[in-house]
Amino acid sequence: MERFTGAFTQQEPIPEAGIAAALAVLQHGRLHRYNTVPGEIAEAALLEEEFAAFTGARFCLAVASGGYAMGCALRACGVTPGAPVLSNAFTLAPVPGAIAAVGGRPVLVEVTEDLTLDLDDLAVKARSSGARLLLLSHMRGHVCDMDRLMARAAELGLTVIEDCAHTMGATWNGVQSGRHGAVGCYSTQTYKHMNSGEGGLLVTDDEELAARMILLSGSYMLYGRHRAAPGEEVFRRLRLEVPNVSGRMDNLRAAVLRPQIGLLDDRRDRWAALYRGMEAGLAQTPGLRLIPRHGAERYMGSSFQFLLPAWEPARITAFLARAAARGVELKWFGAPEPVAFTSRYEHWAYADPQPCPQTDRVLAGLIDMRLPLTFTPEDVALIARIIRAEVLALGQAEVIEPVEAPLAD
Ligand SMILES: *Cc1c(COP(=O)(O)O)cnc(C)c1O
Repeated sequence: MERFTGAFTQQEPIPEAGIAAALAVLQHGRLHRYNTVPGEIAEAALLEEEFAAFTGARFCLAVASGGYAMGCALRACGVTPGAPVLSNAFTLAPVPGAIAAVGGRPVLVEVTEDLTLDLDDLAVKARSSGARLLLLSHMRGHVCDMDRLMARAAELGLTVIEDCAHTMGATWNGVQSGRHGAVGCYSTQTYKHMNSGEGGLLVTDDEELAARMILLSGSYMLYGRHRAAPGEEVFRRLRLEVPNVSGRMDNLRAAVLRPQIGLLDDRRDRWAALYRGMEAGLAQTPGLRLIPRHGAERYMGSSFQFLLPAWEPARITAFLARAAARGVELKWFGAPEPVAFTSRYEHWAYADPQPCPQTDRVLAGLIDMRLPLTFTPEDVALIARIIRAEVLALGQAEVIEPVEAPLAD
């Protein structure tokens, strides 16, 4: 019986240029972004300038985490305590958490079997809640039809903030993810597409939002040291009314990140090759549904999802245990208790209870795995053979032996 022995959580090392730049920062000791000597431009300011150029945005701000980026964008867009904010019912906990952090009220919108926002339910929930904002999560890199979404948002009077934690470097009809809405939010946490351990980036073309976010992030009166930022006059209007909610990025992380921007396109192509290998290995497996991809998107295939539609929980649990026993680490988003990063909206007990039966049906059979770039095409082919064999074995089993759920990291 074949067994996989690789690690699903092992990312690639930091590129040599990033290590050298990080050492230089450590040697001079000026880690704080505003701690510069005359003539010096901080690594954080350079990162912002370079990421703005990469996405084509006018303005960019580097912050402490992806979660902070979303909260900062929401606050800059004027979310006040009790304000309803629309978001996907299927996403990760930092998304409703960012809404809660600014006192907003998450209003959950159903997702489709393709794991993207249901645009009809968006209209229903926007009207019933009166929300003015949508925090759109491109969860696991699945992007809804962005042209239709933006048209629908305009009809409904919604401002869109994009959560691009899983779509940094992805495009829709040639437009970078994060450039459709008013603000794009990214994470540079280790498991995303550029790695600084923790970190976040924000992009926007709106000078008032950019200035608000820079002031919010804790720029004191040093906003003049930002480069991908609006002019002094915009700050002068706002600087006394915007609270300081510190969440800056430091020069060490920025130094680690700058050389990774130029690698994003190559990483996207390599991830796509792994993703397509998994897709090919699992195609036409009875009982297993692949998630269709839209021709207009170029996705970051850093994780892979499939559905086991209408499988009972015991059958899924047994399948996960058997795959785990063969070294294949899968997560189930339908599990009654959250395990590691999995989460279902019922687990966000701070949000008002709001049943989403369509999303429940999808999550009940949704299986998820990481595809780190340390995997080879042969690894992917082997993992797919193991999954296929176990789906076939369990999909047809008449009696399912009870098994312990595998322990997650
Ligand atoms: C990781 C993640 C974020 C941001 O997370 P941080 O850990 O705060 O950087 C946001 N949305 C989704 C969907 C994520 O997976």
